[in-house]
Amino acid sequence: MSKPQQPPFPNKYNARLVAQTDAKPCTICFKPATTVLLAENNLDFFYTCVQHLLDAQFASPIPSEEYTELKKTVDNLTQKVDTLKKEVDAAKPYLWGISTYWSKDKPTETSKLSDKDKSKSNGTESENNKQKEGEKGGGTSGHKYETLKKQLNTTETELNNKQDELKNFKFKKYTLNQQVYRNRLMSHQKKKYNKERSEKIQQAGFFPSAPNHSIS
Ligand SMILES: [Zn+2]
Repeated sequence: MSKPQQPPFPNKYNARLVAQTDAKPCTICFKPATTVLLAENNLDFFYTCVQHLLDAQFASPIPSEEYTELKKTVDNLTQKVDTLKKEVDAAKPYLWGISTYWSKDKPTETSKLSDKDKSKSNGTESENNKQKEGEKGGGTSGHKYETLKKQLNTTETELNNKQDELKNFKFKKYTLNQQVYRNRLMSHQKKKYNKERSEKIQQAGFFPSAPNHSIS
């Protein structure tokens, strides 16, 4: 007997968009669809609406390198935002409004203190130290706080943009749910069979007149 047969097309589909005017009914729900899924060897294709394309019961996107990179960027930015939030919190000056006013009069003392603090512990200063610094002036720590806050804002904006990009990422390749794929194979088989049969019928000169019963 014959060797186990290779499927006529692989379960790897490329998504292609057609113009709105060329929309055809979605294979599942019959809503107008502009996405065509085309098997990698072009032997099968069908239309699917966006909703079904996003349905895990129907098909799953094959992540591309581009997508994986984007996801990594989002993860890194999320971590960076977390870290910055903690740093901003730690740098928050004690009684901020008053300290700015004071710092104008005593800039030397403050910066000396802050420098000492910085070299001593580099950001991990105790709660106690921070408070003292805030009370005495906090010119430098206020500046650090503002800088960190700005950094946090920028990073958050960048994160939001990348998250949007990730959410709206247009996948180019999909793999079908096993049952859906089996249905595609079956319908392909049936079409092939019907085509061969009608060709045979034509060649053999069956039904010289119009058939009066349907071919099933
Ligand atoms: Zn649909």
